[in-house]
Formats: sequence, C-alpha cells, structure tokens
Amino acid sequence: MVIGSVEVTNMTERHLMLCTDSNGDQSHFECMAADCGRKLIFDHVNVRLMVLTPGNPFAMHQGSTGGVGLSAELQSPEESS
Ligand SMILES: [Zn+2]
Repeated sequence: MVIGSVEVTNMTERHLMLCTDSNGDQSHFECMAADCGRKLIFDHVNVRLMVLTPGNPFAMHQGSTGGVGLSAELQSPEESS
C-alpha cells in the first residue's frame, strides 16, 4: 500500500497517517509527509492515543488523530479479551 499524495490548501496542510505496525493491542501510526514526522500509538486496550512525535501542529492529520472511532476501521478486530 503506497500513498504518496499530500493535499495542500491555502490554510491547512492535510497529512495522512498510515498504520505502520500493530500487535493487536497497539497500532503505530506515522505521518506520510516527509517534513512532518508525526508519530503516535493507538492503544486499543485503553482506547486512547499516545503521541510520540507531535510533528506539524498546523497540519490536519487524517487516519487516526481525529477520533477514537477510526480505530475500528483501521484495525481488524482480532481482540481476545
Ligand atoms: Zn503530518
């Protein structure tokens, strides 16, 4: 899966977060914008985000930072609780 497009508007950059790794309990996301470097972990167990690297604070990050609800769509449900 290769996603190379980053839309840039007059006001706000739109960056795409891509899930790079997941062990079922936590999913790692990285921003695809080369000069941003935003990284975070979505914790499926506690249902929360942990930002490792803030990246560009002015950019709109899509994929995971927008809301918790996205996790269900990004992550195939293989929970064994
Ligand atoms: Zn970014």
